[in-house]
Amino acid sequence: MKNEERTELAKSEMIAVMPVACSNEDAAVELFEALRWGDKPTCVHCGGASVYKMTDAATGKRNKRYLWRCHGCGKQYTVRIGTVYEESRLDLRHWCYAFWRASTSKKGVAALEIMRHCQISYKSALFLMNRIRFAMAPENPAIDKLKGTVECDETYVGGKPRPGDGKIHKRGRATSKTPVFAAVERQGRIRRQVVADVSGKTLKGATRELVDAQARLMTDDYHSYRGIGKEYAGGHHTVAHSTGEYVRGDIHTNTAESSFAILKRGIMGIYHNVSKEYLHRYLWQFDFVWNNRKMNDGERTIAAMKAAEGKRLRYRSAEVA
Ligand SMILES: [Zn+2]
Repeated sequence: MKNEERTELAKSEMIAVMPVACSNEDAAVELFEALRWGDKPTCVHCGGASVYKMTDAATGKRNKRYLWRCHGCGKQYTVRIGTVYEESRLDLRHWCYAFWRASTSKKGVAALEIMRHCQISYKSALFLMNRIRFAMAPENPAIDKLKGTVECDETYVGGKPRPGDGKIHKRGRATSKTPVFAAVERQGRIRRQVVADVSGKTLKGATRELVDAQARLMTDDYHSYRGIGKEYAGGHHTVAHSTGEYVRGDIHTNTAESSFAILKRGIMGIYHNVSKEYLHRYLWQFDFVWNNRKMNDGERTIAAMKAAEGKRLRYRSAEVA
């Protein structure tokens, strides 16, 4: 019990320090140290607990490079060693600001805005945002499938609108637009992915991949979903969008559709044209914010930073360049 209280206190302290850590490097480093080690700093080389912060002999203040030293093995290190932040020379306060913005804005945040605010290069801002989006990617979507009542729907994102596109030709074949599939639990989690097309094979495949077989499935009457019901214990319930029926009892896909509306506003307003090959990264970010919507802004930011920590070993092998 005491341990839990201490963890909670540390978390609220981290949230309180966040605004300062976005502009002050000392505060940012201490925040990342608290996230990584809590109140038990350990040596990154030998795991020893007898460690101390090095100080500047002249000023008595903390070493400019934020070095630690281990009594056990005698080696020096910083909080960046062995993390995704190691490959970047960017101040941790910039990482902190980018995490904060990416985690707290429903409409997302553009690399350009991070560039201007932090006064860093566009390349650096992209580097930050790509890694932050990767941190936000779901951990094990294939194992941790969606349950309960789950709405599935698909839409087209990005590209230039064409005459007559939109309401009537929801499934128009505009080549510059990218098909996106969504599965969303009522009152729960969402998973969206870029799909090759909206064929039955593809959409049923995506449904199987993301939705637990015990679920109660809701879609519209698009033919690509036909026949999937026999694979779902809760059945497959449809509303006939093709004839203007949108709700019947509790059967609808309004949650999925409103999630697409938020996504499209974000993509259009902030990211302009997101190319097909990068769209999945934006989906990770929008899904992360949706999935953690019950947290306050500080909690959600800390959750993203912790997720980055957990994924640090996979950054190099994953496609995040
Ligand atoms: Zn050591």
